[in-house]
Amino acid sequence: MNVYDSARMADVLAPLGFEPTETPQGADMVILNTCHIREKAAEKVFSELGRLRRYKQEREAEGGRMIIAVAGCVAQAEGREIVHRAPQVDVVLGPQTYHRLPEMVAKVLRGLPDGGILDTDFPAESKFDHLPEAAAPQGAAAFLSVQEGCDKFCTFCVVPYTRGAEYSRPVADVVAEAERLVEAGALEITLLGQNVNAYHGEAPDEGTWGLARLIRALAEIDGLERLRYTTSHPRDMDGDLIAAHGEVEQLMPYLHLPVQSGSDRVLEAMNRRHGADDYRRIVDRLRTVRPDLALSSDFIVGFPGESDRDFAETLRLVTDVGYAQAYSFKYSPRPGTPAAGADHQVPEPVKIERLAMIQQLLNEQQVSFNRASLGKVMPVLFERRGKQPGQLVGRSPYMQAVHALAPDSHMHGIADVRIEAGHAKSLAGRLSGRDSGAPAPRGLTFDGAEDALGAAP
Ligand code: SAH
Ligand code: SF4
Repeated sequence: MNVYDSARMADVLAPLGFEPTETPQGADMVILNTCHIREKAAEKVFSELGRLRRYKQEREAEGGRMIIAVAGCVAQAEGREIVHRAPQVDVVLGPQTYHRLPEMVAKVLRGLPDGGILDTDFPAESKFDHLPEAAAPQGAAAFLSVQEGCDKFCTFCVVPYTRGAEYSRPVADVVAEAERLVEAGALEITLLGQNVNAYHGEAPDEGTWGLARLIRALAEIDGLERLRYTTSHPRDMDGDLIAAHGEVEQLMPYLHLPVQSGSDRVLEAMNRRHGADDYRRIVDRLRTVRPDLALSSDFIVGFPGESDRDFAETLRLVTDVGYAQAYSFKYSPRPGTPAAGADHQVPEPVKIERLAMIQQLLNEQQVSFNRASLGKVMPVLFERRGKQPGQLVGRSPYMQAVHALAPDSHMHGIADVRIEAGHAKSLAGRLSGRDSGAPAPRGLTFDGAEDALGAAP
């Protein structure tokens, strides 16, 4: 979502003459778009600001100026502290006010006010109504925010406090933006929301539509080949959405469905409002309608009060479900959330040990999922150049990164690739069409060991 928000900030600043650059040195303005979800992410902001202060001084020594802005959830949660601790910062703005960036920049350029601008409101107006229509082209795989904020209040999570209350964009706005993205070359759209399957946008007729109905409408757009959505909550996987996985051809067979823990006790303390078996049942129903569905999840280890037994239940759930990939994190106490003050915080060495154990299991599952792709032909959406000359990198329907030698004309297109080599976190193959011009087939190889124990991204 921060990637999407950053692109929209670039849109909103374009009329003022700003355009994105590759490096912060020498820029007229630098915006740090920040994440507050775990302590580590939030800490980075202050070290980055130290680096930016030097660039700003260099620029001023050359007679220029550099506006520094901090946006996103760290700005929302720690705005005052940033203004206080980092006088080099000119603007601090939360995730719901970035449509006001042009005014803020104009104020800074006019030399007002001293001490920087802090705008971390939750305004009554929606920023989406104030953003320019013509979203900058995002390439073949585009993001589209449909829902924001969250009312679920999981006891570990800052999102309801930093992103604010749940809000769904009207269906007509979403469809119009999707049409513009497809016109600009998007073949794939990922619908975004902190709780995307809680979507309930104002309908074109009357009432509201849920995510499944929105997906069915978007699938009608000519030229849109792939749809994905993230991040969803197990509580909001309703029957219609599950059915859509079996019926909507464009909906890719990959779902990020975070469960966090496999222990009912821990799930309850997290206020997730479902049990481990509810989750198993949802997965079964999804796989009934879409047998090749690949699953991904987020896991938190070392939540307050998590015992060895609770953790063993999480490992059992991972084994039962079988993930194509997943993210796992040590519980990070976040200021202002209920769990941060809970008794029975789990000691750091225990968290480290559990994280290593779950990552080993998840990595083994990812390796075997990738191994099973060997020899298959899969449509790959090429999004960028690879490290080797002539190589393009794209995504399989199951979100695997696939490397292949392919002519530049395949960039931003979908082509069939025969998978010939697998690694722990990616695949390689060659174009399978007759006119691929690729070298004669080699044998199938699999090398899952090299980074099989690497940390989750
Ligand atoms: N809305 C999504 C999650 C959004 S936050 C959901 O309900 O699943 C993304 C992930 O960050 C979460 O799934 C969780 O695994 C992790 N996370 C959030 N808060 C955390 C914390 N305090 N400590 C560790 N991980 C956390
Ligand atoms: Fe955070 Fe997701 Fe829970 Fe909302 S549902 S509070 S975003 S973890």
